[in-house]
Amino acid sequence: MSHNTYNPFIHAQQQFDHVAQTLELDDGMKDLLRSPMKEIHFSIPVKMDDGTTRVFKGFRMKHNEALGPAKGGLRFHPHESADTVRALSMWMTWKCAVVGLPLGGGKGGVICDPQTLSLGEQERICRGFIRQMHQLLGPNTDVPAPDVMTNGQHMIWMLDEYETITGGHYPGMITGKPVNLGGSQGRTEATGYGVIYTLEALLAKKKLNIKETTASIQGFGNVAQYAAELYTQLGGKVVAISCWHQKDQKSYTILHPEGLNIAALVNIKDKFGSIDLDKAKALGYEITNGEAWLYQEVDILIPAALENQITAESVPQLSSKVKIICEGANGPTAHEADALLFEKGITFIPDFLCNAGGVTCSYFEQIQGNTNFYWEKDEVLTKLNLMMVNAFERVYALAEEKNIDMRDAAYTIAIQRVKDAVQLRGWA
Ligand code: GLU
Repeated sequence: MSHNTYNPFIHAQQQFDHVAQTLELDDGMKDLLRSPMKEIHFSIPVKMDDGTTRVFKGFRMKHNEALGPAKGGLRFHPHESADTVRALSMWMTWKCAVVGLPLGGGKGGVICDPQTLSLGEQERICRGFIRQMHQLLGPNTDVPAPDVMTNGQHMIWMLDEYETITGGHYPGMITGKPVNLGGSQGRTEATGYGVIYTLEALLAKKKLNIKETTASIQGFGNVAQYAAELYTQLGGKVVAISCWHQKDQKSYTILHPEGLNIAALVNIKDKFGSIDLDKAKALGYEITNGEAWLYQEVDILIPAALENQITAESVPQLSSKVKIICEGANGPTAHEADALLFEKGITFIPDFLCNAGGVTCSYFEQIQGNTNFYWEKDEVLTKLNLMMVNAFERVYALAEEKNIDMRDAAYTIAIQRVKDAVQLRGWA
């Protein structure tokens, strides 16, 4: 796999161009929608625990704000790049649009490795980010949320710094807050559960019983873990999970043909989703190489970790049993692989539909914060299910009608919505 040359922004633009050419978009509109409208590059000076100063660089990209304030996560990653954040901000625009949220697309990233930083250092990065960016953030401007290697605690440090600088209370400036401080019930589970809500809707179309299906999952972070939990609760069998191991700089797949016990694996993982391999062996599970998850004889593949995992080279090697791919991660399938999957009759639920549960719940968090009235978890999950299934149904119906894959159908709907908003505003 060509990880070194892979560029997510080119990937996102290829997907956009492929669908844009089938729509009646003039050149100006295409030009506007194929790149972020605003790009901010910042440097955060941080006093480290040892007394030295380190400068952490990062980006906040706002792809499009025609439908509403920019919305999207802030990632901490040692290999963060401007192009990754550009792509992710673009995918956020389509994600909000396909679900019908009144939000635009944004994304941020700081180049750092939280696994090697103390909590104090992480707090100073969060506060430093706000010091650099506070004029460009706010409940009606740009609303960050957790993403790769960031969580509710990071959000609260940022909120606190923002409120200290602006001198008021603005719970809507950030989402993914802890439940006891303005967060929404169900936000932690929302992305992973949302993946399974769309899967259930697709299984119903295919007249397949979830209890008779098996799945293989890449990743055991927040998205993968909750997807695995709900899928097994509903009676599905997860036979393989692959996860990253920081200390060996390598990933492994954990296997069991009779199905893995997800609760047992949750007990033996660290907070970044690495499962303890010795303890997994003690549970009677087999451990093999990190790529093995992709080639299992299962009905369903759930890539929920990295970009560019399912490629033109890997599609011919997939088991003939695979019928469905649920894209829990952002950008897990290379552009060239889409047509091959479609030809093989494998249905994929595209990332910006499949993993939209997180941002949909962030939207609920904003509504609850604005009205200062908080919902029960059941209510949150019922509303989340409804919005995800409605979005799925629209995309599925268009894909059937036009005999196109669900990615192209989801893009068609999302681009149309953003284009209409841009036109109504008179921007183009
Ligand atoms: N980081 C999540 C995503 O990529 C959630 C974004 C949000 O809640 O704003 O969809």
